[in-house]
Amino acid sequence: MYAEGVADMAGRIRDEDIALVRERSSIADVISETVTLRSAGGGNLKGLCPFHDEKSPSFNVSPARNVWYCFGCGAGGDAIKFLMDAEHLSFVESVERLADRAGIQLRYVEGDSAAPRARPQQGQRQRLVAAHAAAVEFYRAQLGTAGARPAREFLARRGFDRAAAERYGCGFAPEAWDLLTKHLRRQAFTHDELVTAGLSRPSRSGTLIDRFRRRLMWPIRDLAGDVIGFGARKLFEDDDGPKYLNTPETPIYKKSHVLYGIDQAKREIAKQGKVVVVEGYTDVMACHLAGVPTAVATCGTAFGGDHIGVLRRLLMDTDAVAGEIIFTFDGDAAGQKAALRAFEDDQRFVGRTFIAVSPDNMDPCDLRLAKGDLAVRDLVARREPLVDFALRHVINRYDLDTVDGRVEAMRRAAPLVAKLKDREKRPEYVRKLAGDLGMEIEPVQRAVLAAASATPSTERAPAPRPAPAEPVVDNPQAMVEREALKLALQEPVLAGPMFDAVEASEYRHPVHAAVRAAVASAGGAATATGGAVWIESVRDACEDLAARALVGELAVEPLRIDGEPDPRYVSITMARLQWGSVTARIRDLKSRIQRINPVNNKDEYFAAFGELLSLEQHARALREQAAGGL
Ligand SMILES: [Zn+2]
Repeated sequence: MYAEGVADMAGRIRDEDIALVRERSSIADVISETVTLRSAGGGNLKGLCPFHDEKSPSFNVSPARNVWYCFGCGAGGDAIKFLMDAEHLSFVESVERLADRAGIQLRYVEGDSAAPRARPQQGQRQRLVAAHAAAVEFYRAQLGTAGARPAREFLARRGFDRAAAERYGCGFAPEAWDLLTKHLRRQAFTHDELVTAGLSRPSRSGTLIDRFRRRLMWPIRDLAGDVIGFGARKLFEDDDGPKYLNTPETPIYKKSHVLYGIDQAKREIAKQGKVVVVEGYTDVMACHLAGVPTAVATCGTAFGGDHIGVLRRLLMDTDAVAGEIIFTFDGDAAGQKAALRAFEDDQRFVGRTFIAVSPDNMDPCDLRLAKGDLAVRDLVARREPLVDFALRHVINRYDLDTVDGRVEAMRRAAPLVAKLKDREKRPEYVRKLAGDLGMEIEPVQRAVLAAASATPSTERAPAPRPAPAEPVVDNPQAMVEREALKLALQEPVLAGPMFDAVEASEYRHPVHAAVRAAVASAGGAATATGGAVWIESVRDACEDLAARALVGELAVEPLRIDGEPDPRYVSITMARLQWGSVTARIRDLKSRIQRINPVNNKDEYFAAFGELLSLEQHARALREQAAGGL
């Protein structure tokens, strides 16, 4: 059944180990770290719910059953689910966290070729994180010393007082060659651990020395709040290193994933459905302090696809694909180039990407110093769609008072409009571009069409693309049902087993359900080898004319993927297909649970609750599957 594939996706960790983690994790201890609990009688505990605003506690924990449940908002689950919701961790990360706490050595399923990913050995991560925690304390203490005066002055000049420095754990790496290294060696961290962590490095003479010296230090944390690396800024004129130095790639620090400030910003990002991407550590601090709590920054690298993956978990917390990514740029050439590159790179996010350009070429930190907190909030509020920004940037380079200038500007701008992934927006932008250029719509439209046929789409992700002129285009469920049926008809060898495992009841459109039934009557997609014979046998099995006609249509309609479909695409499509009904069942069940009185109807309550837990686990796995793995 489908659950098998799902378990495989969610668990590179062995099932027995996950069960052991559940069993050995005291749910009361785990939750007590973030929620204050008091006795609710009968061995149960209660507190104020971390997932909705409330004044009297309706958040219940049952240590005996190892579950928690909120009567106010309907949230509930086990210890793993609590960490996922409260800390915005993935399933696997939550299990790893709990395993660390309980001292359980996790084993990972071998031979997972679908998504090979190096995992730090258990235990090593814990050691490296511990070394970083000790280093944070060391650097922090150094910030108070006489030698750290330039670091304190740097922070003060940028408008950060002592409380701000404390909040972000700022510190100072002293001048001596190996002060930190010796300090950590005394705490029994090994030579290898310090080198692997990126905190120390061998000198030419072979002795171990500190990686960072004479610098202002910012600890960089992961989503869960563990320090995994540092950013270090130059303070002294005679320091001939780069302005910023970062921790090198380590088993726990991957710069393509790391977002500075994410630990402090994650709740607001999830709540507001938006994230503000700034360029530096001081910009993140300035934004947070100025009332833009959703700011994060990349660390020594450009914003890329992996960063989007990290944010997706926060931004798409609901089934509605939503969320804004706002990039701030200080308006200089480099910033504009970066913005345009973002346009090139990530077509998937173009529609939801915004640009906020500071008016006087100031970054958020400068802006806050010069004009105050309100100016920083204004900067973000004045964001404009990336497409508009890119078009304006291109057009501005030409003299629109001349015919040649207008034609050249059109020629340069047309490919940007042609690239718009959301094709329904194209006509709007054609009109806008024509207006901006002072030209008729027709030539602009021709230029866009020409550009569209000249540049094949370079989509990387197998995401469905909207095709205009299709009746079901505004109904995502109908669209994905259609796509699943096309896979069964056109690619039965590839899609057959996954297709057959999803039941006909998941198809809500009646004609789609009829075609799904016909596939089953024809022997199932898994048994088919494809081609005209297969299509004919499905057509023959159809019980009504509408379904017969649809089979003919779906057999030839192109799939919504550029290039060849692969197992990943099938998996994503089938997960999306089931998502709608699972969420509907969860909604119904939650409302039923709220109507049950747990005191009088204990059995009914726990039965419903158990059902809810397993449905939610299924939904969670589907969501990760729909996102193309973790
Ligand atoms: Zn609640």
